[in-house]
Amino acid sequence: MTSANTTVTRFAPSPTGRLHVGNIRTALHNWMLARKAGGRFLLRIDDTDAERSRETYVEAIRDDLAWLGLEPDGEERQSERLAHYEAAFEALKADGRVYPCYETAQELELKRKIQLGRGLPPIYDRAALSLSEEDRAAKEADGIAPHWRFKLDHDTPIVWEDGVRGRQKFDAAQLSDPVIRRADGSWLYMLPSAVDDLEMGVTNVLRGEDHVSNTAVQIQMFTALIAAQHNGSSTMPDFAHEALLVGSEGKLSKRLGSLGCDAFRERGIEPQALVALLARLGTALPVEPIADRDLLIESFDLATFGRAPARFDDGELDRINAALVHKMEYRDIAHRLPEGMDEAGWHAVRPNLEKVGDAAAIWQLVTGPVPVPDLPEEDRDYCGLAAGALEWTDDPWRSLTTRLKEETGRKGKSLFLPLRLALTGQASGPDMGELLPLIGEDAARTRLEAAARGA
Ligand code: GLU
Repeated sequence: MTSANTTVTRFAPSPTGRLHVGNIRTALHNWMLARKAGGRFLLRIDDTDAERSRETYVEAIRDDLAWLGLEPDGEERQSERLAHYEAAFEALKADGRVYPCYETAQELELKRKIQLGRGLPPIYDRAALSLSEEDRAAKEADGIAPHWRFKLDHDTPIVWEDGVRGRQKFDAAQLSDPVIRRADGSWLYMLPSAVDDLEMGVTNVLRGEDHVSNTAVQIQMFTALIAAQHNGSSTMPDFAHEALLVGSEGKLSKRLGSLGCDAFRERGIEPQALVALLARLGTALPVEPIADRDLLIESFDLATFGRAPARFDDGELDRINAALVHKMEYRDIAHRLPEGMDEAGWHAVRPNLEKVGDAAAIWQLVTGPVPVPDLPEEDRDYCGLAAGALEWTDDPWRSLTTRLKEETGRKGKSLFLPLRLALTGQASGPDMGELLPLIGEDAARTRLEAAARGA
């Protein structure tokens, strides 16, 4: 049980697919909201749709949250709570807030078309409310099982103070009474979610703005459940709806809807980079490569959230990733580095990496073998000179280049580039001053001599 004033948030995915970047952002914000308040963050698996829900997705959701470091403080599953929804349904029925309907999907579609044709909003006409006891009995005798709608209260305006959008107002008469239960007895999303939020003591519902009209309806459900003295908390949660995420081109893109943790992981994106970006994207706070989650949590504030769509840009994610990799400590990363790479090795290659996974290719420059470059004769002679001039001082690169500069008069590119090519087989790469000591004296001399002989 949670005490009355504990902040409780929830992330409530339906396990009908993998999490995408938009869901990840919602999960993160709920986690941050709870952590900042010292409260609880729940994972609620919305799996009332047995047909579309898959266990593999439930597992993938848990794994993704673990990879992101957003471990929930508890997990609930709607499929295990059907008795609670049944009880709530009975309570609402007793209060006259749910009613049976018998229209087929085709009939409803036809009504919609007629309304739209007359320029009217396609709101359910409540025809089922005027059925008599006998009408209903006749339908059921014909084998037509009812589906059930929640009866909105048209006399009470729906108003809430949204954490992001400010004051929101809806006229219940402009909304359709939502279907909450299908003819086969299964539940649609609306009622179970409201029942759970009340029973689990959820204090803050933070989700995407695509749920704004659901909130309008659910506020009436909360009120009806509390009035029916349905089990659970008697306090309605606070609501906040964040602006949706769009692609860098400014549109709701299909790509974003399928971009998940597995794709990021494959691309070598660190979870910290995703967290740092999504924590502040769409807020007034600057997006920065912040690895310290406490700092991100500390600055989390719904008041900083903007109402304009937040633009997700892969390039920005890559930049944050690289900046975070450049600051990573050896002890935190050692287990992911190529064998033999020690702290000095990590420090030498780190500034050149965009992804941790690139370390292996750079480490290959140290351990060799490296390709022998195809140099013009004068550079081959120069490499031969360098092999003889190599001195293993505290800073062998500096000693070598200082001496070669004096002896040959070379400078800039002609001084450095043949040496880099000879020592690493590449024209660019990590700082040679850091790399050369790692390559070691013997290997360095051998590589210079090989370059002198030529490819
Ligand atoms: N299962 C719903 C969804 O994924 C949950 C929405 C909510 O947060 O209430 O959209």
